[in-house]
Amino acid sequence: MKYALVTGGSRGIGRAICLAIAKEGYSVLINYKSNEQAALDVKKQIEENGGSAELLPFDVANPQSIDEAILGWQNAHPDDYIAVLVNNAGIREDAVMVFMQDEQWNRVLRTNLDSFFYVTRRVLKGMITKRSGRIVNVASLSGLKGLAGQTNYSAAKAGLIGATKALAQEIGSRKITVNAVAPGFIATDMTQDLPEAELKKMIPLGRFGNPDEVADLVAFLVSDKAAYITGEVISINGGLYT
Ligand code: NAP
Repeated sequence: MKYALVTGGSRGIGRAICLAIAKEGYSVLINYKSNEQAALDVKKQIEENGGSAELLPFDVANPQSIDEAILGWQNAHPDDYIAVLVNNAGIREDAVMVFMQDEQWNRVLRTNLDSFFYVTRRVLKGMITKRSGRIVNVASLSGLKGLAGQTNYSAAKAGLIGATKALAQEIGSRKITVNAVAPGFIATDMTQDLPEAELKKMIPLGRFGNPDEVADLVAFLVSDKAAYITGEVISINGGLYT
């Protein structure tokens, strides 16, 4: 059995990634923080499609919670390893910098960037031993371009892009690829509060993306067809910024 861990797999883009990767034959470890029912729904849908999945709840902003869950899974599966890791869980807490509170900065950095380090570190050993693995980090247009009101989120996603490029060079010799995707506006709970009608006017393709479109890109990056792509950041944004 080949295993894939998707953080934040219960809703939005992560949910679509879980479904797409399961179709590629991976048994999916669906991570989430609090919304168990949504995660169970994803598991049910994967199983109805003939795939396999299990829930692996932990808080990506909490290193202890990460270690307990991932080391616990590894102890229970001594002969298996996680071959695909998608670091997708993320939050935004927008505020103009002059009014941004310590916790808004820290929560966003912990959840979107520190999580990459703490989760990936635990999963890497198995990939290095097996000399095979795929890591995809879900960054953002905000990390490439910077967006007003998002100094915290832009910093976290830009950091994630830098880490993607560094790790790709570090472990390329072990046949492990590390890439990032940088979505623009995608219709999920995260973007529900945004003025979609106004924002759409700025997007050359005239609409928000949907989670399945991002998931198809991620599924390609974890497939054998993408074996020679590493250290890349692939934008998926309807032409908003390239
Ligand atoms: P979403 O609909 O709000 O879903 C977020 C997912 O992350 C949920 O499954 C949630 O789990 C999980 N999550 C949040 N905090 C967590 C934590 N501390 N530990 C574990 N899981 C946690 O968001 P989305 O729009 O799908 O975004 C997914 C990723 O894409 C994020 O990294 C985001 O920054 C990035 N992105 C999104 C857009 C966009 O336009 N939507 C654009 C660019 C980049 P629960 O269900 O338990 O809360």
